[in-house]
Amino acid sequence: MSCRCVSRFLNYFQRGGMKLELSKVVQGCRLGVLIGIGKTGQHSLELPGCLLYTRCATVPHLTQDTLHTLTYLPAGAQVALDGLAEHHEVLEEFKEGVRKFAGLHDTALFCSLHDPATNCPTGHVTNKTVSVWGSGGRIEMTAARFIAMQAVIQPDCYQSMADGETWQTNTSRKRVHKAVNRTLAHLDECLTLHHKTPQLKHTEVFGVVEGGDILEERVRSARETAKRPVAGFVLDGFQSAAMEQELRGQLITAVTAELPVEKPRMLQGVGRPDEVIACVEAGVDLFEGFFPFQVTERGCALCFDYNVTPDPEAAALSPPTVLELNGERPAVEDPKQNDVGNTGTMTQFEINLKDIRYREDFRPLVEGCGCYCCKNHHRAYVHHLLVTSELLAGVLLMLHNTAHYLGFFRALREAISHERLQDFKTTVTKVDFGGRKQLH
Ligand SMILES: [Zn+2]
Repeated sequence: MSCRCVSRFLNYFQRGGMKLELSKVVQGCRLGVLIGIGKTGQHSLELPGCLLYTRCATVPHLTQDTLHTLTYLPAGAQVALDGLAEHHEVLEEFKEGVRKFAGLHDTALFCSLHDPATNCPTGHVTNKTVSVWGSGGRIEMTAARFIAMQAVIQPDCYQSMADGETWQTNTSRKRVHKAVNRTLAHLDECLTLHHKTPQLKHTEVFGVVEGGDILEERVRSARETAKRPVAGFVLDGFQSAAMEQELRGQLITAVTAELPVEKPRMLQGVGRPDEVIACVEAGVDLFEGFFPFQVTERGCALCFDYNVTPDPEAAALSPPTVLELNGERPAVEDPKQNDVGNTGTMTQFEINLKDIRYREDFRPLVEGCGCYCCKNHHRAYVHHLLVTSELLAGVLLMLHNTAHYLGFFRALREAISHERLQDFKTTVTKVDFGGRKQLH
């Protein structure tokens, strides 16, 4: 064990629980490592980063073996309560938690309230309850039921109950105020019950910051949540397609200014690479990893450049991301139209492999990509799988899109570390007026 590892190990047992080690803050971006995650503190997560997206603790389209063909997988995966709540009785009978139930490799689990890639009906939050939707319909939960579910899911961290129904732009100030109050009351009740539940002794609670698009409510929510004994913060309600990036950045900056520097901030509902960068600049550490899944579901492949390494030797060591668009990227719809639907809207960061122009394109999805799909197959084959509705299309696209997205986060951390964020932003977001990225 290295000195650094020994120091982390001792740190965990001396202080207990999760701890954020920040190594650098550049232009608001926080570079660090979240250590001591999990029951024995064995997991760590590099920040800024994202969790692995799952549905009922399974990465869609992938078995554990195919998933582990990918390198640099994050040590944390996300599960959502809406997919698990209806299996509560089975998990209760099973007794050993959802990680073992789903046969997951050793990974930390974060349990959120809602699946970020599924539309959730609104209008069902009360002062005492929140609702989630499984395949069998609505499940209403009091704090007692919510904590009982966490006790059988046995995640390493979970977000507290929250009234997150204020992200629409027409929500009144009164309704937003009420949502902040309710969310704080839910948190207090959850914390009280959490501490009385032995199965959750080593599980951490994240408090949820609400406040819609009203600055004072966002600040109040952040301040009050920070007074509670939480391990980290979830920033909810920023997924609205109608919210301008500038306003989102201002609100998040105001929120993170109120939060203690030593605790992680996770943002829900934002996954586009350009928006991720802007939110990291506003002080966000952690994201949900649903974006590659949405891209996969619309039959697309992530295909954007994120490599800013100028030194050829260093470039040879990092995952190459050569852009090969052949000048044929289809026109993308206005990014502002992106929504929180099942698959969202196609973005400038991807190519649509269902398009007939790929029928005879025998290049990999991304030239130089090291994923299983790009090493073994080409665009024309994935196009064929998509148009013939073969299930393998989802497997190959999910592998590539996950690899590319994780590579983007790695490159983002490198850029912060080497203080090259501006170059990184230019590389990732450089798009000409035809909606097509410029070739280098
Ligand atoms: Zn690939």
